[in-house]
Amino acid sequence: MKKWTFLLVLALAVAAWMLPACRREKPAGRTALQPNILVIMSDDHAAHAISAYGSRLNATPQIDRIAREGMLFANCFCTNAICAPSRAVILTGRYSHLNGVRDNAVAFDGAQTTFPKLLQKAGYQTALIGKWHLKSDPTGFDYWTVLPGQGEYYNPDFIEMGVRKRREGYVTDILSDLAVDFLERSRDPSRPFLLMLHHKAPHRAWQPAPRHLNLFDEADIPLPETLFDDYSGRSRAALEQEMSVKDHFREETDLKMGPPPERLNAEQREIWEKAYGPKRAAFLQKRLAGRELVLWKYRRYMEDYLGCIAAVDESVGRVLDALERSGASENTLVIYTSDQGFFLGDHGWYDKRFMYEESLRMPLLVKLPGSIPAGSVNDELVLNLDFGPTFLELAGVPVPADMQGRSFAGLLFGQKAGDWRKAVYYHYYEYPAVHMVKRHYGIRTRQFKLIHFYHDIDAWELYDLEKDPEELMNVYEDPAYLEARRELAAELLKLQGVYGDPPELARKFVHEDLKR
Ligand code: CA
Repeated sequence: MKKWTFLLVLALAVAAWMLPACRREKPAGRTALQPNILVIMSDDHAAHAISAYGSRLNATPQIDRIAREGMLFANCFCTNAICAPSRAVILTGRYSHLNGVRDNAVAFDGAQTTFPKLLQKAGYQTALIGKWHLKSDPTGFDYWTVLPGQGEYYNPDFIEMGVRKRREGYVTDILSDLAVDFLERSRDPSRPFLLMLHHKAPHRAWQPAPRHLNLFDEADIPLPETLFDDYSGRSRAALEQEMSVKDHFREETDLKMGPPPERLNAEQREIWEKAYGPKRAAFLQKRLAGRELVLWKYRRYMEDYLGCIAAVDESVGRVLDALERSGASENTLVIYTSDQGFFLGDHGWYDKRFMYEESLRMPLLVKLPGSIPAGSVNDELVLNLDFGPTFLELAGVPVPADMQGRSFAGLLFGQKAGDWRKAVYYHYYEYPAVHMVKRHYGIRTRQFKLIHFYHDIDAWELYDLEKDPEELMNVYEDPAYLEARRELAAELLKLQGVYGDPPELARKFVHEDLKR
């Protein structure tokens, strides 16, 4: 018996040792084992500006291709709706308080375990192109070229493997060129690849490609139902933010009202005059005020935001086409997502941060031909925390025990996950800071959302998402919801325990931040 056990162990060890070699020699047979992984992530692209998600604002035919050929996640959420923190969560599969990036001011500690590092170790060729926004240099990538900080839309600088260089053109197009070049020329066909293509667009200050500057001039842009929200029925956190369409746009850069920035050259100035000159003139002639002014600002915001997305959509088409030409499409997992959602005039706001639906929700579209059912929709509660574990499982790489996300690979293949999570935990920290969204944590289930705002406020909000999907009426004090409130509070405490983020810890961070 012992001899056979020994032989079995030996045989398995030999097989395990030989497996990576077989994969390298036989890329065509790799399909089920180690798919290529192409992550296309934009910045601040709300799901409700994607036609596959039912956008009333725009059409995104290329992004929709991924939904048509794969799966749309109807309930994907982030754990902290702001740029750098979401990116750190995706890389590490760990919450902000553990990966260290609680807000945009902190540099990511690149010595941490990340899924790209683990894929690299497993034989993947790893590449990162585009926005990084984590201050420290990327780690775990064979090749990387990133935009410094937020990056520029026009003629952006890049840092390529540590060397700074400027590239001429429009940022989204340049990133597409780099990705296409990787897929068609730089990729090592004997190995699976991970390519992370991170767009800057459609981040503020929403500067479209010159060819899209007037794309929405004549478009019918419907108003969000909550554009004139007065925040009654909620805590003062919603009232006291600084991200309203009415009051907080910068005239010069957001609305493009003033003279163009000093650094524009004659050619750029001409483009600006052509695109924005008439809009500014219309504004000045009509002397808009009150409600009319808010409508005008909303329209200006949407024209540029949607204009930026038009180039992202074209980019997705170009990259998918290049993938098909390269012959790798059949064995490549493609995902389209954004680091968080965004308010598109909803509640009278732009930006993100709040745990309310528009910013909490991330678009997530995934395709892998032959494995993920085409045109499928999944409505389980998945998180950006789950991305890393999912990629690792698909690559056959063990998920480290300290990654807190859960692989949704089974969901991708149409399996029912009866014990999938019933609530998601959220924690936002960046306050006091730009936009002045107060610190809060909370949980969301299918029906409810419970939020606690803290720091210079101590306020609870409870929403019944079935009866009040716009989250306009806080029912925390409503006796009819007492039982639900108790159950949610218990679940919240449980999740804070599971993720190692008890309220005392949150308070400790507040004190640390007050000192820095
Ligand atoms: Ca973002």
